[in-house]
Amino acid sequence: MRFGPAGYPEAGKTPEGALQYARDLGLDALEVEFVRGARISQERAKAIGDCARRLDVRLSCHAPYFVSFNSESAETREKSVGWVMDTVRAASALGAYIVVIHAASYGKAPGEAMGSVIEGLGRCRDAMAGEGIRGVALGVETMGKKGQFGTLEEIGEVMGSVDGVRPVLDVAHVHARGGGRLRTEADMRALLDEFFPLCGETAHFHISCIRYGDKGEISHLPLEARDPDLRLLAGALDGCERDCTFICESPLIERDAVVFRDMFPKYRRAHPPE
Ligand SMILES: [Zn+2]
Repeated sequence: MRFGPAGYPEAGKTPEGALQYARDLGLDALEVEFVRGARISQERAKAIGDCARRLDVRLSCHAPYFVSFNSESAETREKSVGWVMDTVRAASALGAYIVVIHAASYGKAPGEAMGSVIEGLGRCRDAMAGEGIRGVALGVETMGKKGQFGTLEEIGEVMGSVDGVRPVLDVAHVHARGGGRLRTEADMRALLDEFFPLCGETAHFHISCIRYGDKGEISHLPLEARDPDLRLLAGALDGCERDCTFICESPLIERDAVVFRDMFPKYRRAHPPE
């Protein structure tokens, strides 16, 4: 299991400094946030990827928030393929194994969302094949608002139509969407039982606590909010032999990544304190 922050910790100043800083905290994963666009040269991405490999920090990437495969606007749907592909090319140069995508909102055409997402991701997959990009999964995130596309069931259906798609389990989003449904270790175990069969070699998680209302997600919260209580998730994962990556999206990104890691006695021991 690997643990890390969503984004480069500020204290690191540069991407390389941030990777070293994460490593010094005993973290060994990091999600590079291209949430406002993937503008990075191949050369620069390769240099950062080399640094991550040297430090044994596993990289993933987050695609822009404005991707929207079910947009009313044909132009936005078209551009969404480009925005994902920019991220995929960056991920490939970085050596990142997955690109995390907020695929769509139901918007005014909820009945079309599934077809739109399959079409958009299928076009990304074709573009990747055309460019010879391998080893980067298209990760569709479980979304926290009831108006957004992205339940595990929906993602499983997309996987039936597009190769190389994987679910990204944002545990807090599932909790928020279900009105706070993850209350026990058994709830967490049931969620993992649904997730693991879909996730391939490495299970990619987003973790945080969350504020939510009638429509689902409102905002991410630090782990001390205990909603959901992630000790239940750690308990449900006790003895789990799967390869998992846990990316912390709490407002206290790297600090809470350490807090979560330390909920696992095995990993707490593996990394000496700062
Ligand atoms: Zn996300």
